[in-house]
Amino acid sequence: MEAKRAEVVVLGAGPAGLAAGVALARAGCSPWIVERDDTPGGLMRGLRHGAYQVDLGRKELYDRIPEVVRLWESLLGEDLRPYAHRVGILYDGVIIERERVYRGALRGLPPRMLARGARDFVRARVRRVRDRRPPSNLEEYWIDRRGEFLTRALSQGYQEKFTGVPYRARPVPEEQSGSKARASTAEAVKALVDRLQAPSREVVFRHPRRGTQQIVDAMVAEIERHGGRFLFGATVKSIAHEGGRVRHIELDQRGETRRLGCDAVVSGLPLMLLARVLGVADDALLRVDWNRSRRTLIGYFFLDAPPRFSHAWLEVSCPKLSIGRITSYDAFGGEMCPPGRGAIAAELYLDALDPRAAAEDEEVLDALEHELVTAGLVVKETIVDRRLVRIRGSEASVDYRNWTDPLVESLLARLEAFENLFDANRAGIDVATFAGLEAARAIVTGDAARFRAVADPRTPYSDYERLA
Ligand SMILES: Cc1cc2nc3c(=O)[nH]c(=O)nc-3n(C[C@H](O)[C@H](O)[C@H](O)COP(=O)(O)OP(=O)(O)OC[C@H]3O[C@@H](n4cnc5c(N)ncnc54)[C@H](O)[C@@H]3O)c2cc1C
Repeated sequence: MEAKRAEVVVLGAGPAGLAAGVALARAGCSPWIVERDDTPGGLMRGLRHGAYQVDLGRKELYDRIPEVVRLWESLLGEDLRPYAHRVGILYDGVIIERERVYRGALRGLPPRMLARGARDFVRARVRRVRDRRPPSNLEEYWIDRRGEFLTRALSQGYQEKFTGVPYRARPVPEEQSGSKARASTAEAVKALVDRLQAPSREVVFRHPRRGTQQIVDAMVAEIERHGGRFLFGATVKSIAHEGGRVRHIELDQRGETRRLGCDAVVSGLPLMLLARVLGVADDALLRVDWNRSRRTLIGYFFLDAPPRFSHAWLEVSCPKLSIGRITSYDAFGGEMCPPGRGAIAAELYLDALDPRAAAEDEEVLDALEHELVTAGLVVKETIVDRRLVRIRGSEASVDYRNWTDPLVESLLARLEAFENLFDANRAGIDVATFAGLEAARAIVTGDAARFRAVADPRTPYSDYERLA
């Protein structure tokens, strides 16, 4: 077994690990970056297919953390380009606009849907007068406020596919529980008008000209330029620790066991995996591991013409379609597709036991293609190639709330007890990047307290938005 001494080791070359790698390398720390795959990027990686270079499903880069935006700007310059952030919701063959500038008076809702929405809204109000019981779950909560049709069309249909959890099984929002859970008619009308018409936050969305892989490539180049090194095809098997300090990492690199001694470690590994390799996971924790029970499959369709809609992505709330989200890469306006062509990604969110999770690629692609064509989004004859990607170990709907589960919080407390270990895996590319940068800063300055305070994985996204 080869024993090698490394000062700083970064586990995982996703956005968190790469950002830490950039900051450490720029500070002269020459980190070792250990990555299981043969290529870098984690869930931010792109996919090259002939002349196409697309993202891993839908990738929206948020501008809410100034340090992260500065990093991307420093790496990409002019190639971080604004695009028309036209996004929508697909329901029953109709695209409902989500962005203010495209909303118009009725957000693209045809009169028949508007009439149905108005009828269901009035029904919900009448029911509300008869039944004074507060809503007992999220479905009742939203129907009380929006009526049945608009609840399903605007959010429920998509959210239930995305998370795999029916609204009926989810509680009413915590801050609205008790008597506040019931909306008066005036409140419900105001909330509905806000939802349908009020301006969304003024944001200029930007995307790399050649997709998220361009950020990955730029980070790798920057790390190598400053003396950082990569170990690809190297799987972390265990992390040895003693007296509250990580001592060494045991890896399997293409069948060969290696050991890396270390003074400090940044981990971008999925949180529960980190718990397992550290030997601090128990059965209860494994039960709340969000990556174990769900699968994300992405069907790519490469086209010799643009698709029949001009949105960058659509959330599919329509129950007739199993697809959860559809991304169209030519709508980002960069060079992800060759000129005059298009590429679509259709995301499917499945429980691990769903038979489609084990179906042959061609079978899944046939089903997705049928949905895209029958929904009128793609002309069959324009499809020149297709490909299925199965994302292993990653639940797409995870957000900061997953970290507020009491079992996860107790794990976080245990991780914090390791003085030279910085866990930077987060939900959201920008948040993970920020945590990576802050982990590096903690190692360089010795100020671990700041990392724990500003890069807490439980921080609500609205807190970052307030700072932006
Ligand atoms: C379908 C989908 C769509 C998403 N869309 C968006 C979006 O639009 N906007 C957004 O901000 N976020 C989005 N996210 C979330 C975002 O991708 C993640 O939050 C982010 O990538 C987390 O970064 P990370 O570096 O912490 O982890 P990851 O990106 O998961 O990287 C972890 C790395 O660790 C490596 N690894 C795993 N196990 C081992 C091991 N044993 N040994 C060595 N290496 C290992 C992996 O190969 C990977 O490279 C999406 C996620 C999914 C699944």
